[in-house]
Amino acid sequence: MKAYEYSFVIKRGDGTSEIIPVEFERSIKSKSIKITPQLTKKIIKVTYPVYVLHSRAVDFLEKQKNWVARQLEKVPEKIEIADGSKITFLEQEYKISHIPNARRGVWIEDGYIFVSGEKEFLNRRVKDFFKSEMKKYFTAKTHFYAKKIGKKFEKVSVKDTVSRWGSCASNGNISYSWRLGFAPIFVINYIVAHEVAHLEELNHSYKFWRIVKNIYEGDVNEAQRWLSRNGLSLYSID
Ligand SMILES: [Zn+2]
Repeated sequence: MKAYEYSFVIKRGDGTSEIIPVEFERSIKSKSIKITPQLTKKIIKVTYPVYVLHSRAVDFLEKQKNWVARQLEKVPEKIEIADGSKITFLEQEYKISHIPNARRGVWIEDGYIFVSGEKEFLNRRVKDFFKSEMKKYFTAKTHFYAKKIGKKFEKVSVKDTVSRWGSCASNGNISYSWRLGFAPIFVINYIVAHEVAHLEELNHSYKFWRIVKNIYEGDVNEAQRWLSRNGLSLYSID
């Protein structure tokens, strides 16, 4: 583990805590000391100009530490994928139940996600299950919207991206974050409609937004608002 000279601690209501390290970085492009809490990566970045002393950057952070602490309050509590945990996936609530000797992989039944196999693989198996379920969902929905504008796409893949919920390449490959499975369906569908609209317009022009509004049955602003307010919570499931 890397040692950090400065870090913050988030204390949870349940008595647990989490360390959020600070990364200092001198940058040629930097014109002033800047603190950026990168909440999905769970680090605090401090960038400062080359001519500024490191100790001054630390002083600056020291003075802003109450502000940083307030930003960290926005980091949602962690939900661990483990035996007994409750998870909402595609708007359905499930309880995870570990049945070591079942030899059936992962399956859904009566509000449970049952997982067989050894405990040490449970987390990865459930994640793989979510990813493959999301791939099916995304593929079907991408077909649905693409048909509406008479466009074809190459292939749909799922990723665990931190910075974006979806992307569409000029060759027609579309990828989505599988973590959207923890968001409401109207939000997932908005991302799909957004990426499909890029098959026609590879920009965010007026024309692009007209296509999104044409194919998407929900309210674009509402979906965007949900993501900016709650997007971070999709990363708290681990
Ligand atoms: Zn876009």
